[in-house]
Amino acid sequence: MEKVSLEQLVKITEGRLIQKGKTDWVTGAAIDSRKIEKNDLFIPIKGEKVDGHRFIETAAEKGCSTSFTETEALDFPEGINIVLVESCLEAMKALAKYNRERYDIPVIAVTGSSGKTTTKDLIASVLSQKYNTLKTQGNFNNEYGIPQTLFNLQPEHEIAVIEMGMDHLNDIRKSIGEVRPHIGVITNIGTAHIEILKTQDNILAAKKEIFETMGAGDIALLNGDDVYLNKIREDEEPFSVARVGIRGAGLSLKAEQVESSAQGIRFEADGEHYHFAYPGIHNVYNCLTAIWLGRYYQMTHDEIQHGLDAFKPSGNRMDIVKVKAATVINDSYNANPDAMKAALDMLWDMGKGSRRLAVLGDMLEMGEMSETGHLEIGAYAAEKADVLIAVGPESKAYIKGAGASLADERCFWSADAESAGRLLKKLMAPGDVILIKASRGVHLEKTLEMIQE
Ligand code: ATP
Ligand code: MG
Repeated sequence: MEKVSLEQLVKITEGRLIQKGKTDWVTGAAIDSRKIEKNDLFIPIKGEKVDGHRFIETAAEKGCSTSFTETEALDFPEGINIVLVESCLEAMKALAKYNRERYDIPVIAVTGSSGKTTTKDLIASVLSQKYNTLKTQGNFNNEYGIPQTLFNLQPEHEIAVIEMGMDHLNDIRKSIGEVRPHIGVITNIGTAHIEILKTQDNILAAKKEIFETMGAGDIALLNGDDVYLNKIREDEEPFSVARVGIRGAGLSLKAEQVESSAQGIRFEADGEHYHFAYPGIHNVYNCLTAIWLGRYYQMTHDEIQHGLDAFKPSGNRMDIVKVKAATVINDSYNANPDAMKAALDMLWDMGKGSRRLAVLGDMLEMGEMSETGHLEIGAYAAEKADVLIAVGPESKAYIKGAGASLADERCFWSADAESAGRLLKKLMAPGDVILIKASRGVHLEKTLEMIQE
C-alpha cells in the first residue's frame, strides 16, 4: 500500500486518535500480527475463538506504526498510534475502499458456484502477459480477504482481478462497495451452499449482487450455457452483457471443435486455436472467460495462449501427480455436485485406455438436497469410473446411486480419509488414473499423502 497519513487514516475510518506514536503514516495493513511489517497498520479482529486485541503488543514488537482498537480499556504498548474505531472490520473496509479508489484501473470481479479461483487465476495468468496484474491470493474471497487484496494495490498495477465468494444473501453486497468492478464475471449457478440459500434462483440473486455498483460502460461476463445465468437480460440491466460458451445462442465468444483428452483441451474460438493443459469441459468455460478478457484488453492470440500455458493450479485443485506409476488427479480441495461432475469428466478424459478409480468423499453443506445429490453423483460416477471408493457418512448414497451399474466388487466404502488411504493402497495398480475429490472437511489430501508414503 502506498503511504496513508495518520490524519487521513483517522478521517477515512471516522476514528479517534487516542494515543500518538512515533510515525504518522502507514504503508501496509494486516489482521494477523505475525504478518506485520515495519510501519504497517494492525487491525485486531474479534474472531469466534480469539480476539485480535490480544496481539496489539506483538504487532508493535513487529514494527507496526499504528493499531486500530475497539476499546479504550487496554494497556497499549508505547510508541505506536492507537486509533479508536467503532468496528475494526468496518474500518478495514473503509481503508480498502479508499485504497481502491486511489487507482483508476480496470477491476474485474469473479464469482460463481464453482471455478472462481481457477477462473481468477486463469484471467490473471493471461492478463499478466501484457499488464501488471494484481490478483486475489489463494482463496481470500470473503469480507476479510477482499480488503486485504485491495491493500496490495500499488501504483504500478494496471489491472486487478478479485475473487468474491459467498455463502449467504448479502455476502457479496457487503464487499462490493470496496471492489466496484468494471467487469463482473459469474462462472455458473450451481448448487453450492444450497443448504443456506434453498433454491438456485436465490443463488442467482445472491451472485447478481456482484453487478450492484455497475452501470453504463460496465460489463457482465457470463457463462452463456448456464440456464440460470441466461435469465439475466441485457435490456433489463444498466450494464452490457457478454456471454461465452459452447452451445448457447448469442455468444460473444464460442468454442468449436472442442476436444478433451489426457493431454488437456483444444478448441477453436473466433477462428483461432487454443489449448490448455488440464482436461475437462468445465475448463473450456474457464479458458473462454480468460480469452474473452484478453481480447477485450487488446491482447494478441500468442499472448493469450502464453497466459493459458503459464497457468498453475492453486493448492489441491486439479493437480496432476504421479504416484507409483499411477496418475492421480488431486482435486481434494473442495466439492459440490457440479464440481464433482466436472472432475469425473476430467477422470474420463484422462483415463482413456486405463483403469479409472474415483475416490469420492462427502459433499457437505447440502442440507435437504444431500441424499439426492449424492445419489446423482454416484450414478454419474458409475458411468465415468471403473472403481468407486466412497468416503464418509453421506457418501453411502454414492454406492446406492451407482446401483447395479457398478457391481459390488468395484464399489467400496470407507469411513474416513485414512481408511480410504489404506484401501486405495491395496487397490491401486501401475497405469491407473485416480481422482481424489471431496468437500474440504473430509481432508482427502490425507488419502493422497498415505499412498505417497
Ligand atoms: P470456493 O468456493 O471454494 O472458493 P471456487 O469456486 O473458487 O471454490 P475452484 O477452487 O476454482 O472453485 O475449483 C474447485 C473445483 O471445482 C475444481 O477443482 C474443479 O473440480 C471444479 N471446477 C473448476 N471450474 C469449474 C467450472 N467452470 N464448472 C464446474 N466445476 C468447476
Ligand atoms: Mg475459490
